[in-house]
Amino acid sequence: MVRRIHNFSAGPAALPLSVLQEVQQDLVDYKGEGLSVMEMSHRGKTFDGIIVEAQNLLKELMGIPDGYKVIFMQGGASLQFATVPMNLLGENEFADYINTGAWSKKAIAEVKKLGKAHNVIASSEDKNFNYIPTEFNLDKAASYLHITSNNTIFGTQWQSFPDTGTIPLVCDMSSDINSHVVDVSKFAMIYAGAQKNMGPSGVTIVIMRDDMLEKSPANIPTMCSYKIIGGKDSMYNTPPTFGIYIIKLVLEWMKSLGGVAAVEKINRDKAAILYDAIDSSGFYRGTVEVNSRSLMNVPFRLPSEELEKKFVAEALKHDISGVKGHRSVGGIRASIYNAVPKESIQALVDFMKEFERTNG
Ligand SMILES: *Cc1c(COP(=O)(O)O)cnc(C)c1O
Repeated sequence: MVRRIHNFSAGPAALPLSVLQEVQQDLVDYKGEGLSVMEMSHRGKTFDGIIVEAQNLLKELMGIPDGYKVIFMQGGASLQFATVPMNLLGENEFADYINTGAWSKKAIAEVKKLGKAHNVIASSEDKNFNYIPTEFNLDKAASYLHITSNNTIFGTQWQSFPDTGTIPLVCDMSSDINSHVVDVSKFAMIYAGAQKNMGPSGVTIVIMRDDMLEKSPANIPTMCSYKIIGGKDSMYNTPPTFGIYIIKLVLEWMKSLGGVAAVEKINRDKAAILYDAIDSSGFYRGTVEVNSRSLMNVPFRLPSEELEKKFVAEALKHDISGVKGHRSVGGIRASIYNAVPKESIQALVDFMKEFERTNG
């Protein structure tokens, strides 16, 4: 038996054991080719098969309609914060943003840096981002609306997406892509750093409607141009080959479980176990409004910071890792992405009960 801790890391995060084992199996000699995926040309037949399969599997699993492109980029979701306005905000245009937490804020900060016009049409900062705003007025003249579907740090998640009509909806899905069924046709663009729910860090997934690709101006850096990188099928330069390979394996794993709908069901079960443990205790206290709760990141507090410190330290002794909350919320945060098994949630909940019994 290999040793595997209960990994609740917010990101980079848990990967499926079967994927890691397949990587290990094929690491030195990929399918009898006598070399590793890391060592082969990105222009060769084998890697071409891998990247095309990764794109096709993502299209199949997410139900991405015709007329959209799947692009693999680098620089993380954080580079997208700048790349989006660089490409999609022309002169005399403006964008709408909804501020639901630290990552939205960073996205807005990049638009500012570029000196581009934008409006923050709603924010949940008044309550330290513990809810998703439901009231806002979209400006029909906006070039796009940008939202963050899941707020990794604060543990909130859009439960349904706003109907933006003809305004292109752009979404940072870094921490909940493929965690639940999404109607991709509602979005003009989806982007996500891979390292929470899709694979290792170093790959950024961009799903973009073809007409949006056409907006990229000629005077931006080549590596930031959706039109160029997308037009070259993510092969303008050397893509992050090994990461793309692992994404393919993660998607195959998801398919073997029955696809996104089946994974969503598992995720809902997992989250319910944890939220029930919090709600039924009186000792633990959730920090998020119930109707904005995330399926992926579950923050909660204990009666004192001292107890929270002790909780994190003792959890580690039970092989429960990564549960220290982000400093802007404090307390505890369990990130329960797709690859975190139900057994780990059960182990955490058992530990929580024991900790409450001895410290409550
Ligand atoms: C982690 C995260 C990011 C940052 O991703 P990088 O790939 O590290 O740049 C952005 N947005 C959200 C919602 C995240 O969870």
